[in-house]
Amino acid sequence: MAGSDTCIFCKIAAGEIPATLVHEDPHLVAFQDIHPQAPTHLLVIPRKHIPSLNALAAEDAELMGRLVAEGARLAAEQNLSGTGYRLVVNCGEWAGQTVDHIHLHVLGGRRLGWPPG
Ligand code: AMP
Ligand code: ZN
Repeated sequence: MAGSDTCIFCKIAAGEIPATLVHEDPHLVAFQDIHPQAPTHLLVIPRKHIPSLNALAAEDAELMGRLVAEGARLAAEQNLSGTGYRLVVNCGEWAGQTVDHIHLHVLGGRRLGWPPG
């Protein structure tokens, strides 16, 4: 399994490449997406290298709960609770996953279309 040697998000979590961090704790790191698709576009990642939703194990349940809760907390911090926001995890080619380290997109600040393209 790819780890911190080759994975760009492991390197961000380790502080080895720069990102604009908005949260750090022992389990998670959150930072601004480099190509924002909305006025607020944050990414929340687990420090643990998990390549995609396809690779989740039962032991990851608590960590994924933390990931979603942190996404909601960051959305509230960005004053998005009232207008609404979206938490997205893309999995695999057809969903457009481009980085093979699980990440939660926090999107808001404009009206978001549905269904997604
Ligand atoms: P996905 O398409 O779901 O795999 O999302 C990957 C996201 O990571 C995209 O929205 C990219 O803009 C973002 N991204 C890629 N490299 C970086 C980076 N070095 N710093 C911040 N965001 C990044
Ligand atoms: Zn990784």
